[in-house]
Amino acid sequence: MPLIEDGLTQHFTLHKLAQVADESAFFREVGPRIRGVAAGGAGKADRALIEKLPALEIIANFGVGYDGIDVKAAAERGVIVTNTPDVLTDEVADLALGLLLATVRQIPQVDRYLRAGKWLEKPYPLTATLRERKVGILGLGRIGKAIAERCAAFGLDIAYHGRSRQADVPYRYYDNLLAMARDVDVLMVVAPGGAATHHIVNADVLTALGPDGILINVGRGSVVDEKALIAALRDRKILTAGLDVFEDEPRVPAELIAMDHVVLLPHVGSASVYTRNAMGRLVVDNLVSWFEGKGPKTPVAETPWPRK
Ligand code: NDP
Repeated sequence: MPLIEDGLTQHFTLHKLAQVADESAFFREVGPRIRGVAAGGAGKADRALIEKLPALEIIANFGVGYDGIDVKAAAERGVIVTNTPDVLTDEVADLALGLLLATVRQIPQVDRYLRAGKWLEKPYPLTATLRERKVGILGLGRIGKAIAERCAAFGLDIAYHGRSRQADVPYRYYDNLLAMARDVDVLMVVAPGGAATHHIVNADVLTALGPDGILINVGRGSVVDEKALIAALRDRKILTAGLDVFEDEPRVPAELIAMDHVVLLPHVGSASVYTRNAMGRLVVDNLVSWFEGKGPKTPVAETPWPRK
């Protein structure tokens, strides 16, 4: 983003790895002087990259999800990792509710129907409803809570699953995802990616969600077993799905694209100018604050500050 580039060049010497022609020469000659990394989007900061930068002190990630960064490798080296929490929470929660409504009431399909001139022939068939639905939120964190507040305003019943029960929330807790899936008919995925959540939404969970069930995923594609999801949608084991994230982005399985009863978005949860600018400013602020000796503004849990 120009906002990030401008912000960084005001304070630092900026090198753009994506534009480097000879990477091995770059790491040999410039690598030893690199003290900070701004990462995000397609830019992964894996162990190999971290090891090539002996003077590295901080990696500032653009985004709240940081599964593209090897935090373990960073922590071992004492490298701080920061992300962009809170500034995108409401935007992503808004999108999640939009996606849920679009999916259950078939808003994109109805729009296509009108444009194709079919309204002139007959009214659009009646759709499923959001009324009287029970929503199970997988990942009642910052965004999950903002989604829950919105669901409550829509008059929906709310439950959640995470690794631990949370004090001070009025929603029903399930320590078992499968048990929650059995009891709800909307499963809202907003958990982070990574090994611990890989494919936890599997064929059994989808079957438990049931033939009237709706899966919404605004968390990470890796949380859902995409092959099992395609099979469940094909065999009508669940009603429909609204997906903002996929396992191998930006590649989306042809089977999903061919299905008319799903709603697919290209990972746009936080993608408004307003929110992306706020995220960009936080990336710059983390780096500036660190190099001014004031510590990171939003370090991730694995690399806490002050150091433990
Ligand atoms: P938080 O860290 O605030 O919340 C994450 C939640 O997930 C916590 O409630 C946590 O609960 C739960 N969780 C973590 N690990 C597990 C696990 N192994 N099993 C079950 N639950 C788990 O993060 P945010 O709410 O700020 O963001 C959530 C995610 O949303 C991000 O990590 C990112 O992947 C995604 N995201 C997607 C965007 C998009 O554009 N679609 C934009 C922004 C974020 P507990 O600790 O109790 O397990």
